[in-house]
Amino acid sequence: MKEDCIFCKIAAGEIPSKTIYEDEEFRVILDISPAVKGHALIIPKDHYANLFELPEALAVKVMILARKLAAHMKEVLQCDGFNLVQNNGKAAGQTVFHFHMHLIPRFENDGNQDRLCWNQLEVSPEEMEEICSKLKLKEE
Ligand code: 5GP
Ligand code: ZN
Repeated sequence: MKEDCIFCKIAAGEIPSKTIYEDEEFRVILDISPAVKGHALIIPKDHYANLFELPEALAVKVMILARKLAAHMKEVLQCDGFNLVQNNGKAAGQTVFHFHMHLIPRFENDGNQDRLCWNQLEVSPEEMEEICSKLKLKEE
């Protein structure tokens, strides 16, 4: 547990939260400022600042849990779509530096842009080729 980390305190139950799921490794809470009613956060109980710190085994469990909760929320809320969002670093919009995955149920005309927003750049074929070869990762 990290001193002065709000999600460590919430995950440990020291600060109350609207919890929709809890097990040994995770607490899933409702976001205090939701994009949509039902917006929830998967929070590991151990402190990892971001995806880069998250151990691989826990990353696998996060995705399995996200899938399970998305299916549950879709059934209960009858939502039309679903976003998984996970921000890493201030430049990417992260504001709480304890890893978390956003679970966002989506409805037609829910007041957000259909596509959670980012700019869509026009990139030349040469630049595409350059970035593609730069990013090529060999299978392990
Ligand atoms: P980030 O921007 O780091 O990806 O997301 C942080 C999220 O945590 C935000 O959506 C914000 O509303 C939520 N949040 C911040 N503080 C609290 C809190 O004390 N309780 C709850 N339930 N959510 C919080
Ligand atoms: Zn923490």
